[in-house]
Amino acid sequence: MLVDREKCVGCGQCVPYCPCIAIHMDEKKKAVIDLERCYECGICLLVGSCKFDALVYQEMSGPRLTRYYYNNVLVKNPVTGMTGRGTAEMKTNELTNKYAADEVGFGIELGRPDVGANFRDVQLITMALAGIGIKFDAGAPTTLEMEDPSLGTFPEAILDERIICSIVEFKAKTTMLPRIIDVLRKVEQKIDTVFSVDMVSRAQVDGSLPNVDIVKSLGVTVRPNAKTTVGLGRANV
Ligand code: SF4
Ligand code: SF4
Repeated sequence: MLVDREKCVGCGQCVPYCPCIAIHMDEKKKAVIDLERCYECGICLLVGSCKFDALVYQEMSGPRLTRYYYNNVLVKNPVTGMTGRGTAEMKTNELTNKYAADEVGFGIELGRPDVGANFRDVQLITMALAGIGIKFDAGAPTTLEMEDPSLGTFPEAILDERIICSIVEFKAKTTMLPRIIDVLRKVEQKIDTVFSVDMVSRAQVDGSLPNVDIVKSLGVTVRPNAKTTVGLGRANV
């Protein structure tokens, strides 16, 4: 995103709308955007923060386009063929039956709007998981960005592109839980951003959640919560 300095009147209205604090006012009281920090998410423009049409998309090419397609949720990503960074099915298992009773679904979310992430951080996790045989969700946006999903690698050219958040989606047999947690613990020290681990697990008929007990026994703090489908999932049964 760029600022048209001829049009900018220095009102500062755009500044608080940027999720990563990339906009600041310079000594001439004009808005300036730090292009290294800018996600190209378009939020400052899309919310109509500037009444003077001073915010404009810049011409983009090469790896920077990944930043634009991955972070701007209104734009269809030509690589993944979809908008957004996760699949609706993760949250609608009662409709899709994506995760069987002996399976656990994972969504590893790297980055948050203010701190962000890059594909180098994501790759540290995906390569570690691929090393224990994890197969990533073939339809998930993060998998579709990969160069080789069997190795968990991304194209070298996009590794340092900034992203607001990436969701690494996969499922595994419940018996894999201890190995997955062990791998995540080992790799977490190398990750230069925040990340959280979502687990999708079916409740038993009596309401118990055995997978929660397994993870707790491994010393992990768990916060169980229920998700309610709102009809966004694609039924496959
Ligand atoms: S809202 Fe528009 S006019 Fe105001 S500081 Fe930002 S770019 Fe300049
Ligand atoms: S495009 Fe997004 S990251 Fe860039 S300045 Fe606007 S709000 Fe901030």
